[in-house]
Amino acid sequence: MKDILQEFDLLKENPGAGTGTTWLECGGEILESVSPIDGQILGRVRQASGANYDEVAVRASTAFEEWRMVPAPKRGDIVRQIGNAVRTRKQELSTMLSLEVGKIRPEAEGEVQEMIDMCDFAVGQSRMLYGLSMHSERPRHRMYEQYHPLGPIGVITAFNFPVAVWAWNAMIGLIAGDTVVWKPSSKAALTALATAKIIGHVLHENDLPEGILNVVIGSRDEVGEKLIADRRLPLISATGSVAMGRRVGQVVASRLGKSLLELGGNNAVIVSSKADLDLAVRAILFGAVGTAGQRCTSIRRIIAHKEIFNPLTEALIEAYKQLVIGNPLENGVLVGPLIDAEAVENMQRALEEIKSQGGRVLYGGEILSGGIYDVGTYVTPCICEVSNDCPIVQEETFAPILYMIPYETLEEAIQYHNDVPQGLSSAIFTTDLRESEIFLSHLGSDCGIANVNIGTSGAEIGGAFGGEKDTGGGRESGSDAWKIYMRRQTCTINWSREMPLAQGIEFGIE
Ligand code: NAD
Repeated sequence: MKDILQEFDLLKENPGAGTGTTWLECGGEILESVSPIDGQILGRVRQASGANYDEVAVRASTAFEEWRMVPAPKRGDIVRQIGNAVRTRKQELSTMLSLEVGKIRPEAEGEVQEMIDMCDFAVGQSRMLYGLSMHSERPRHRMYEQYHPLGPIGVITAFNFPVAVWAWNAMIGLIAGDTVVWKPSSKAALTALATAKIIGHVLHENDLPEGILNVVIGSRDEVGEKLIADRRLPLISATGSVAMGRRVGQVVASRLGKSLLELGGNNAVIVSSKADLDLAVRAILFGAVGTAGQRCTSIRRIIAHKEIFNPLTEALIEAYKQLVIGNPLENGVLVGPLIDAEAVENMQRALEEIKSQGGRVLYGGEILSGGIYDVGTYVTPCICEVSNDCPIVQEETFAPILYMIPYETLEEAIQYHNDVPQGLSSAIFTTDLRESEIFLSHLGSDCGIANVNIGTSGAEIGGAFGGEKDTGGGRESGSDAWKIYMRRQTCTINWSREMPLAQGIEFGIE
């Protein structure tokens, strides 16, 4: 364990606020980072106090004055160097991530790769911060729009994607000319510090001002609430539960700031009678069980046509039986632990509710014991049969529970599909063109992401990521998501000797 801390010059106890190269003397409480793999304490963080948060916000504001004046392609070049630095540390950072949040190695490596991809994407975007030009209705006038850096921005991240989601925001924020105050999940504190260290060196080597990228680890009350209420931060991007988003959205709105909310999902896959079932089973397995069911895009509901309901359920149970559950760092393991005891309790509570609401557990759901399992965080992923009107179906339980819901007509399937408060990701498995087009049409899925013949999780960075309804409405990562990180300005220039007014208004003294 000592080795992985040393890889990043982390100590047994580390300050929780700084820039990656300069750290503050922190005054908050000690936070222990406990590995869900075996319950060992990986390291400790002395959290930031409210006063420490203020120091960070001042640094980020001061650094913004300088960073915004660096030309965007040059900012892109810094992001290119960050991507290269992460490339060289991919293995170590993935190991840190696995140890701290329990992701299996291939998924942890995939997450770090996503960071690298995001850097590459942002480098290209740095030369494409395009505004439109418009033809003015007034003679000899020119109209165009331009995008300016926005300011220091706040980025709040969840435990389950401790670095990729941050990179979606921070790398685009950086090329946009913003500085970043990152409040990571306390459950992934060391991974955040390791990331900050890798990146801090790049900024330092380029002689850039301290405070372009900042990390601040602290309690919700001392740091989180201060950050969201801070008028110095024009944008708060927050990823996490719906409850968190509701609070963040309200506080940011009350100061008329911008918020970008990426919240919980309750993702479903419709499996039609015309689906390629083999394909569906493979996709559902990854979507429902990958990251031990702890992705915002995890498949939680299968809405299966009654003709294939039984064979699909049987095939899934067979596949679940073959899952190797254990130490996520070992080869061949597909399911690691849940993040902590609380997550296991939540899963057990949900299983009780399912039974009390008339649902049936068809497979799994046990807490494993013996050997490494004795830490209490390992569970068998679970398949349940439920009716769509069970209240529990409306909720996101952040654990590997899969609901099987039968349907008869596509109309009914789509109605079930959209009948939840969340609207993140969705998919249909069908070989029928009409069915897939209906699903993708205005009549179909109401989610931010809609797929055909692939699962709901594992999105590529090139598209805009996010969801509707209680998922918060934010979009980040690819496409034109960069625009929210910038201030749009519409400019009109009069190069005539007249003063015509728009809409033909005459106003003046004879
Ligand atoms: P969480 O809501 O418990 O915490 C998320 C982050 O919000 C943490 O950093 C936490 O400290 C912070 N936070 C909580 N209250 C806050 C407050 N009042 N002020 C400021 N910060 C506050 O979520 P979690 O358990 O870490 O992650 C799981 C949840 O995140 C799931 O619901 C999952 O679906 C969601 N998620 C969504 C996306 C997405 O892109 N839509 C991605 C990953 C995770």
